[in-house]
Amino acid sequence: MAAAGFVIREQPHSVKVAGEIVGDLDILAFDPKSDAVIAVSCKEWKDQPPHTKDFNHMKELMDIEEIKHGVVAWTNVPAGVYPLIQIAEKKDYRFVVLDLNRYEELHNHMLAGERDRIEDFFRSGLGLAATKAPTLGQEISMRKAPAQKRTLHCHNLLPLHYGLDPPSYLRNAYFKPSEAKLRVVPFLLVNFHAHKEARVPGTGELLNSVNMEIGSVCNGITGKPVSSDDLVTQLLREHYGEALKDGLIEEDGFSAEIYEPKINKQEMTYKLRVDAARSIEPLEVSWTTRRGDEEEEHTRTVEVTPNDLRELHSAMINVPIWHAPYHIGVHDYVREYFATTGWSIRDDMACCLQCKQPTAAICTKCGIVACLNHIRECKTCGQLFCYEDSVTCVNCSSIFCKAEARGQFCMTCGGFVCSSDDVRCTTCNSTICGEHTIKCIECGKPVCEEHQIDVRYVGVKKRFCSENCHSKFDSEYRKKGVLGKLGKAVKRSRS
Ligand SMILES: [Zn+2]
Ligand SMILES: [Zn+2]
Ligand SMILES: [Zn+2]
Ligand SMILES: [Zn+2]
Ligand SMILES: [Zn+2]
Ligand SMILES: [Zn+2]
Ligand SMILES: [Zn+2]
Repeated sequence: MAAAGFVIREQPHSVKVAGEIVGDLDILAFDPKSDAVIAVSCKEWKDQPPHTKDFNHMKELMDIEEIKHGVVAWTNVPAGVYPLIQIAEKKDYRFVVLDLNRYEELHNHMLAGERDRIEDFFRSGLGLAATKAPTLGQEISMRKAPAQKRTLHCHNLLPLHYGLDPPSYLRNAYFKPSEAKLRVVPFLLVNFHAHKEARVPGTGELLNSVNMEIGSVCNGITGKPVSSDDLVTQLLREHYGEALKDGLIEEDGFSAEIYEPKINKQEMTYKLRVDAARSIEPLEVSWTTRRGDEEEEHTRTVEVTPNDLRELHSAMINVPIWHAPYHIGVHDYVREYFATTGWSIRDDMACCLQCKQPTAAICTKCGIVACLNHIRECKTCGQLFCYEDSVTCVNCSSIFCKAEARGQFCMTCGGFVCSSDDVRCTTCNSTICGEHTIKCIECGKPVCEEHQIDVRYVGVKKRFCSENCHSKFDSEYRKKGVLGKLGKAVKRSRS
């Protein structure tokens, strides 16, 4: 059952009526998705055959505990049990019968790693829909929208090397985007070769020169030039050679949007040529000439003009960009990145929402992204949760998610005390944490601050759980001589 996502709460669970144990349920399981409690009866019938009365007994115990979901896991199940189940199911009970054959079937699923088939078996049998907030997995399957897949052709498309994978820096990134889009944006890339020489007039001696290639980029829709240190420019300069003449995009879990270029290519190429020429540092040169004994210094600035640029290559290149919005728990994120290189343009998940440090995980409950300092692991389910969605036992420091935290709160300080550390006041039966547990000096039993009785003996404070214990101590005290009295007053409580 644990393999199917249920939490084993107690094994076995004793059912009591008025303090008397009337029977045991072999396992008490809990479904975190629907909050349902499930009673399990496990029996290997070796010596005596099972009887319908064993089923009736199980149902009685369930009635006492007000449990409506049961699993009958018996090696063989007498035929008389099935009609009893039918009757019970008319009164809103749900049972799953797990005999040896069925058990082996499930065991095979488990060996094959098909845990969801096991979960399906229990859920459908027990009528447990996940009525609480759907899990991430369920949300994802709901999002497998109707969407007919289209195949789109796109000229000069940069290849798609990166898909809609969740960010690799998150340890528990098993979610998918809600309505992912692949935006294909055209950019005009023009490569120029710039060549300019500065020579001494007359002699033609070469002083300095420019000999370089420049790749200039502008947005194919708006015509806005893209700066040379922009990621798009870097992407196009490094990858334009990989552009696919006839690129294909098959919509699969996303929709594609291909934008048509809206600029005049000739006009834009000229503009880019002017801008590129301007971006090249002019050549500052100096030389000396002699006339008789006199030397003359000359300096000159030689600018690179648009005519010094030769167009090597120009193309409208389609750049695929992922736009992936996520709706996880109560949080919304957007990630945008180039499908060719994975370079991030925008990533709302990259920084811890609380301290801005790099993130490491996402809270299973609310979906907040967090760094290692702001996320913790539940001792019961092993999932990761934020501080808001988890509690720490003040006694043993174990961490639990709120759905699976079993325990009470200390009546003195309000701190959470897990069920394995539960200590109750002898008088009022309230839970008390380690720090607020007072041990009776007479009987050693725990008592809360409110119900302790403290009395001073020769200036030493003695704490009792009850008037009864106090008077016991008192009468012994009075029987002793002076030294004995002192001894009794100073003696520490028995531990
Ligand atoms: Zn959370
Ligand atoms: Zn943080
Ligand atoms: Zn948990
Ligand atoms: Zn604890
Ligand atoms: Zn306390
Ligand atoms: Zn008390
Ligand atoms: Zn006592």
